[in-house]
Amino acid sequence: ARKKLLKLKKTPAITLDGTPITLLANIELPDDCPGALEQGAAGVGLFRSEFLFMGRAGHAHRIPTEDEQFEQYRKAVVAMKGRPVTIRTLDIGADKPLDQTEHTALNPALGLRAIRYCLAEPQLFLTQLRAILRASAYGKVRLLIPMLAHAFEIDQSLAMIEQAKAQLREAGHKFDEKVDVGAMIEIPAAALALPMFVRRMNFLSIGTNDLIQYTLAIDRVDYEVAHLYNPLHPAILQLIAMTISAGHKAGIDVAVCGEMAGDVKLTRLLLGMGLREFSMHPAQLLAVKQEILASDLTKITPQTRKILRAMEPAEIAEAVERLGV
Ligand code: PEP
Ligand code: MG
Repeated sequence: ARKKLLKLKKTPAITLDGTPITLLANIELPDDCPGALEQGAAGVGLFRSEFLFMGRAGHAHRIPTEDEQFEQYRKAVVAMKGRPVTIRTLDIGADKPLDQTEHTALNPALGLRAIRYCLAEPQLFLTQLRAILRASAYGKVRLLIPMLAHAFEIDQSLAMIEQAKAQLREAGHKFDEKVDVGAMIEIPAAALALPMFVRRMNFLSIGTNDLIQYTLAIDRVDYEVAHLYNPLHPAILQLIAMTISAGHKAGIDVAVCGEMAGDVKLTRLLLGMGLREFSMHPAQLLAVKQEILASDLTKITPQTRKILRAMEPAEIAEAVERLGV
């Protein structure tokens, strides 16, 4: 079956009715890029940059320097040979601690993590932004900001990107002046305040892993509540569908980069909601492509509209299974 899938590597991801779909890879380190290309990825939809910062206990410094980071980002950009590379700024905290010695918040998932941490540590954030921007001189880079909820966080992030650009100009470094900046939509408040985001951002990427955690109030790494982690909860479906529609209405790209994007049982549902950009673990890419090649949006789209009105779990699950048939 794996062999048959590999034959699809160069096949364009187009639905039966002729709609092109973009299939991107989630990576943790630049070394993941060749494997992503091997599975036919059209680019990187999520480079989880925190992996460059984790597990550095044996290093002289805990935080990689600007040059060290730049080398890693550039390596990924070059490896992808002109395809877009979406680099997410540091998403540290909660399930991804910087190191073990840090103070442990009572509710780390609700604490000083991701963009909150970066805005509290402006030098660390500026260093990363400069390193990412410098890599944009070597190919197509997109900047992605995690865990945004407030307008002032968006504004401060954008101001710091401008500050990093000014510092690079001063130092004579080249970078893409028009680098796209996007927001992760992974806090319910963000999905419920989309005009705030689409006005300021060039693209959106839905982080379903955290969106489910925060919407259903279940710790995504606590096995005792794992049975409550349900991507098909009608509240989750509403938030995802609203985000896709609002982004497209505003004329900006919307991707899903959480685990839902790589689940072939959910491919048709996401297509029916209007999703045209999926980012996932490279190992899932060809299976999702196979599903896309057999999907007819003229059937799936009206069926999905009905699913979005349904409130009974059994009804939703059954309808999702029958999508497109
Ligand atoms: C997510 O939250 O869905 C996501 C893609 O980011 P992470 O899993 O790294 O938090
Ligand atoms: Mg997340």
